[in-house]
Amino acid sequence: MNERTVSTEELKNLLLASGVKPSVQRLNVLRYVIEEMNHPSVDKIYQNLLPQIPTLSKTTVYNTLKQLTEKGVINALNIDGHEIKYDFIEHAHAHFICTSCNQIYDIELDSDIYQMQSIEGHQVFNTQVNFKGICNNCKQKQKEN
Ligand SMILES: [Zn+2]
Ligand SMILES: [Zn+2]
Repeated sequence: MNERTVSTEELKNLLLASGVKPSVQRLNVLRYVIEEMNHPSVDKIYQNLLPQIPTLSKTTVYNTLKQLTEKGVINALNIDGHEIKYDFIEHAHAHFICTSCNQIYDIELDSDIYQMQSIEGHQVFNTQVNFKGICNNCKQKQKEN
């Protein structure tokens, strides 16, 4: 799996650059979203941070994610229609969702679609490109059976 580590200093700078005060909760929530790289849900973030921060509430996690999304630090993905997944926006990318294993893959799409500020007179705030299908892993497994 992809993994990366980010220093507290980097996290602080990211938050400050977006006008967000770097509280302990915000730093931890953002660190989780950046380091995990697996598009976690509110539940998943909460479950994973609770052992480190026993005083954490799910509402705090939710509000933190909402604020980070509004400030453009992270992206809220509504891919399957019921559960919001969170993603760090390092650079614009598309997503491939496997309908067999539900895994979300980051897709590097060489396109200027992300730079579009307006489309047919409508002002664009957020661009999400999603592909659905069967992923390589699942395709491989289907062949073996
Ligand atoms: Zn799959
Ligand atoms: Zn992504």
